Amino acid sequence: MAIDRARELFGAEHVNVQALSGSPANAAVYFALLKPGDKVLGLKLDHGGHLSHGHPVNFSGILYDFVQYEVDKESGVIDMEKVREIALREKPKMILAGFSAYSRSLDWKRFKEIADEVDAYTFADIAHIAGLIAGKQLESPVPFFDVVTTTTHKTLRGPRGAIILCKAEYAKQIDRAVFPGMQGGPHDNVTAAKAVAFGEALKPEFCEYSKQVILNAQAMADELINRGFEIVSGGTDNHLMVVNLANKGLAGKEAEVVLDRVGISTSRSTIPFDPNPPMNPSGLRLGTPAITTRGMKEGEARKIAGWIADAIASRGNDNELALIKEKVKELCEQFPIPSK
Ligand SMILES: *Cc1c(COP(=O)(O)O)cnc(C)c1O
Repeated sequence: MAIDRARELFGAEHVNVQALSGSPANAAVYFALLKPGDKVLGLKLDHGGHLSHGHPVNFSGILYDFVQYEVDKESGVIDMEKVREIALREKPKMILAGFSAYSRSLDWKRFKEIADEVDAYTFADIAHIAGLIAGKQLESPVPFFDVVTTTTHKTLRGPRGAIILCKAEYAKQIDRAVFPGMQGGPHDNVTAAKAVAFGEALKPEFCEYSKQVILNAQAMADELINRGFEIVSGGTDNHLMVVNLANKGLAGKEAEVVLDRVGISTSRSTIPFDPNPPMNPSGLRLGTPAITTRGMKEGEARKIAGWIADAIASRGNDNELALIKEKVKELCEQFPIPSK
């Protein structure tokens, strides 16, 4: 049932639903299509990529020869001409498109054209945006790409896990790479939960939800900009944004801790060309899927952005922070977590 629903949801020729999580799913893809030492072109980690896209401490960077593209320093956006330039120079066996901290849409078709020029596999990791693609709000790489992986626990709003989608010609290799290549027996409990999540995502309400997630993110980004914050790339096309805190006189870790104190969960994040170290990077990553699930709309997203600005401005003031925390709590009580 999980396979049937995922195939319908993404229009994929083949789906493997057994991958345990995003990183093991990516490992299976490399294992299926590459040999150790093969060259892969992916997005640099501190420009929005993921550990499993070739970071030197990760298995991917240890086993494979990763070369990386970046975002443009001025615009914060991936420059596809640069991607092509690097691809022509490096001749990778695989081109990887996907991210954990990038707020702009990717040009899947252009990636495919570039990959065809150098005869490389196309691999999309849509872990962050799969729900927005399933909800028909963002373009899908599935028609263009050889292989697509996604986690099931981010915007897809399901259990911790992952799936691999691919063209029929790679079905055997992918399935074999997962089992017996990487994993043992299937985690049936999680597979059942994946089927439930895909069933929810197939409902028309999920399109409405996905649309609202993006509207909320855009409202939040807009309000943060009104309050003097700098958003990497100037805004968002999806559910997330990365705030560059450099002009606010604090780094990501301190902002994350202050916001935690008022009940707002965020994640410290690197920014492109970050002058600070990865454990205390200059940015903060925010997303709107959770507040949207509670039924919040643009007005609430703007309110939260205001409280983020207030909390950061009054970070030394315990009384102010306590007042903001009270407001956050009241809002959460107005929008309880739906029971179904
Ligand atoms: C979160 C994420 C993963 C890894 O997911 P895990 O389930 O935590 O292993 C892989 N790729 C991208 C792009 C991600 O954002």
